[in-house]
Amino acid sequence: MSVLNINAIYRTTEGEGIHIGTPQVFVRFQGCTIGCVNCDSKETWDFSGHLKTMNEVLEAVEKESVIVSESGVKRRIQRVSITGGDPFHPKHESSVLELSRILKSKGYFVNVEAAGTRIVDQIFDIIDFVSFDVKTPSTGVKTSEKLLQRLIDQYASKSQIKSVITDQKDFEYIYDLFFRLGQPQNIPWVLTPCYEPHEEFPKERFVAILKWNEEFGSPFRVIGQQHKWIHGPSELNV
Ligand code: SF4
Repeated sequence: MSVLNINAIYRTTEGEGIHIGTPQVFVRFQGCTIGCVNCDSKETWDFSGHLKTMNEVLEAVEKESVIVSESGVKRRIQRVSITGGDPFHPKHESSVLELSRILKSKGYFVNVEAAGTRIVDQIFDIIDFVSFDVKTPSTGVKTSEKLLQRLIDQYASKSQIKSVITDQKDFEYIYDLFFRLGQPQNIPWVLTPCYEPHEEFPKERFVAILKWNEEFGSPFRVIGQQHKWIHGPSELNV
């Protein structure tokens, strides 16, 4: 029986990226070694503890996916997002593959939020969608250009690229990368204005990114993190 390292399992509405506004159950894996400077979920870095069996995880997903209205009507959410931490860390990989297979056999739409340091080819045969991070200079982490090119060449139809933008240097870095990669049009590339837990809503940053995107020919989709506007930037599991 597999044992999974899990931070939390909860239902909420997707707050960012192209599936924004879609209710789903999140399975958040515990453990990440990437170390982004502006990470908004540092509580997921540590690999110790939080162990659950596959059955416990599946039961929790089933429980969270059922909603009973005030009048007693039962409805189900058939979407799961596997996130982290880093769900494609080698320590999580086999659990994520197994969980994805089981969820697909139960009819769920399955999305994985990938940190962008690895491509796990098998996952694309199993699940519906991968969100792939491309790191910016403000994160202190670099995404391999070769890896990104491979994602675009092989898996664009099942993916989005997401980049957190803190300042103009981040924007110009991503634009230069987009240009070097031949301005790919076959994959949505989302810019997420950075909104750190200690900040007030960064309106100026947001407006500046919208403006830069227009001035550079609108190659990206600028999508904020609406869960942070609604619940506050440091609220967990929302
Ligand atoms: S990959 Fe995600 S969880 Fe890991 S450090 Fe970066 S932002 Fe945080």
